[in-house]
Amino acid sequence: MITKTIYEIIDIAAIIGIILTIRACNRIKFEYGKWLSHSLIAAVVAIFANMLVAFSVSSASAEFSYCLYFASIDWILYFIAGFCLLYTEHDKAWGKLFIPCAFIMAADSVSLFANLIFRHHFNIYEKAIHGTVFYQTAFQPSYYVHLALDYSLVLLALFFIVYRIIKSYGLYRTKYVIILSVLLLVIVLNLVYMAMSLVLDISVIFYAVAGFLIYFCTEVFVPRGLMRSAVARAVDDMSEGLILFDIGHHLIYANTFSRNHFDIDPADYDIDCEPVASVISGLKEEGKSFGETTYVKNTMSGTKHYKIRYTSLTDKKVRPIGSYFLIQDTTEEVFYLHEIEEARINADNANRAKSTFLANMSHEIRTPLNSVLGMNEMILRTTDDPQIREYAENVRSSGDTLLSLINDILDFSKIEAGRMDIIHAEYDPQKLVRDCYYFFEQTAVAKGLYLKVEYDEKIPRRLSGDMLHIKQVLTNIISNAVKYTLDGGVTISLSYRITGRDHIDLMIDVSDTGIGIERKDIAVLFEAFKRINEKENATIQGTGLGLAITKELVDMMEGEIKVDSTPGKGSSFKVTFPQDVVDQTHSGPLRLRREKDEEVYRERFRAPNALILVVDDVPVNLKVVSALLKETLVQIDGASGGEMAVEMCNKTKYDVILLDHRMPKKDGIETFRDIRNAGLNMNTPVVMLTANALHGAEEEYRKEGFAGYLSKPVVAKDLENMLIRLLPEQKVEKKF
Ligand code: ADP
Repeated sequence: MITKTIYEIIDIAAIIGIILTIRACNRIKFEYGKWLSHSLIAAVVAIFANMLVAFSVSSASAEFSYCLYFASIDWILYFIAGFCLLYTEHDKAWGKLFIPCAFIMAADSVSLFANLIFRHHFNIYEKAIHGTVFYQTAFQPSYYVHLALDYSLVLLALFFIVYRIIKSYGLYRTKYVIILSVLLLVIVLNLVYMAMSLVLDISVIFYAVAGFLIYFCTEVFVPRGLMRSAVARAVDDMSEGLILFDIGHHLIYANTFSRNHFDIDPADYDIDCEPVASVISGLKEEGKSFGETTYVKNTMSGTKHYKIRYTSLTDKKVRPIGSYFLIQDTTEEVFYLHEIEEARINADNANRAKSTFLANMSHEIRTPLNSVLGMNEMILRTTDDPQIREYAENVRSSGDTLLSLINDILDFSKIEAGRMDIIHAEYDPQKLVRDCYYFFEQTAVAKGLYLKVEYDEKIPRRLSGDMLHIKQVLTNIISNAVKYTLDGGVTISLSYRITGRDHIDLMIDVSDTGIGIERKDIAVLFEAFKRINEKENATIQGTGLGLAITKELVDMMEGEIKVDSTPGKGSSFKVTFPQDVVDQTHSGPLRLRREKDEEVYRERFRAPNALILVVDDVPVNLKVVSALLKETLVQIDGASGGEMAVEMCNKTKYDVILLDHRMPKKDGIETFRDIRNAGLNMNTPVVMLTANALHGAEEEYRKEGFAGYLSKPVVAKDLENMLIRLLPEQKVEKKF
């Protein structure tokens, strides 16, 4: 009875083992996983049959249980053979064998159950052990055919495993050896059972053990072993350095990179060796216990640069277990950064040279242009001959175009060099639109176009923004609208939208009925030097810079510009500028007071008692100023250089001095300082009259102490306004 109970316990343990193994098997996601689980199911059937044998109370039930048991062994071996062939990557061979083998096993199973009738495999007899009756088998010769079939399946599997073992190496060989061992265990246990003629088959325990062994081998041992050796290899081959220390700062590992780059001898390398020591002390200086730093090493082949990261290592419970250094060779990166920096400096220098060149060129062009336009102005003022007036008007118009071209190029270079500032100041939006209107009115009328203004009366009376640059934007857009319109005209609309308590968006729309722009061209409209339909527009003057500058200026003022256009019908440019409101009162209806430009020049004041000094090294420029001021009756002294000017200032007191900047020997600034320091004109207002239109020039002059700034070519009206402002009031007779 005791023997049977022990036997029961063994069987139940085996079943539990097998169930666990089947569950584990499900986790083996490969094709062969299903073969292993089928063999385990067959093993469960075998154990079940074995238990039936143990609990049989008649020879008939014992005989049936034995048949079931022997048949299940067939299927265990069949499925194990399948598993072994697939596991050793003999899919093709098993693909050919699995159907014939299944037939043979099925025939053998049928033959085993036929024993219930023919008794050709075994007979049952009773055997009493310690008072307990066991049913045992006495085998017939044909039983050995069944055994031979079973063992030929085992031999088949063995053959393929051994073949794979010979062909493989390393961990893979270990993996196949484990499978071979499992298979041999089946054979040995079966042989033991048969040799010892045990009353019951205890080999069932093996099925659980075999299952676990296979699972352990396929899921744990091989993958982990492979991972460990692969990681070790990859770390060693890394193109970065890795140095590992234990908690006591002893070297545990240094990969090939670090060994080669820092001559690390694992036997006596520790935390005080380079580069580790410098990195740690560097981090400590920064007050950090881990982080990243750079390290430079001089070698025979040159300077090497490294980036080293130091990190401490902790276990899952965040207890320190060591530290590691990750080292990156940044020599090439540093080299390229250096190259880029050099290229940037060169580009900066080239850019500066370009800006200086442009500024100089502009200066050089302005100087003769000053003479041309000044003298031309004199012709216009002095002649009534319509033919000569027409010629002179043409000279004026071409001169103005040339001047605006120079201004555009200079503006563009300023924007490119990031030297264009946005200066906010208070202004009257009505004045803004009025100025623009008057600027283009005559050109539009001359072309037979209308120029209309639509003004929203509710626009606040005073705004704050960069009116000069807004005006420049509008001038560019309106000038294009007039340029590219042949019939109809141009409408300028001003409206606004409230964006905050004291903030509005000033919205300006310039619409024309001109030639329009193709949709595809709108995308490139704001690119510098890009002119559209160059052939068709060849007769229209332009550089393709205007809209590029416009866009830059709008962006700098945080505004927005949009274009709508229909070829042949016209275009509409919509610009929006965020502005601050200074006075909320509505500005009311637009007053477009028509200040007709005098066709014939009229001086704005007379000052016969005023005496001014004009200093310029170019004699024509002296003549230009004298001629421009002729009608004002102002007395004018001329000096052809700085030294002469200082001398004259020591002798005569002037009411205003107009001074050129660039002069040979003593330049304008030096002359100014000398005049300020001694003589009779220490307090006389001095105006800089120069062709230097460089960015910030005016401010520089003001800082120096100049009372005003006029750029060449000098505009008569500006010159007169300047004198009205600076001459002693009692000497000026204004004329309106
Ligand atoms: P440009 O000095 O050539 O006028 P812009 O940058 O001001 O340079 O303009 C670029 C191009 O855009 C012009 O050459 C013209 O073809 C086109 N363009 C600009 N405004 C208009 C417009 N209102 N109607 C038609 N075409 C225009």
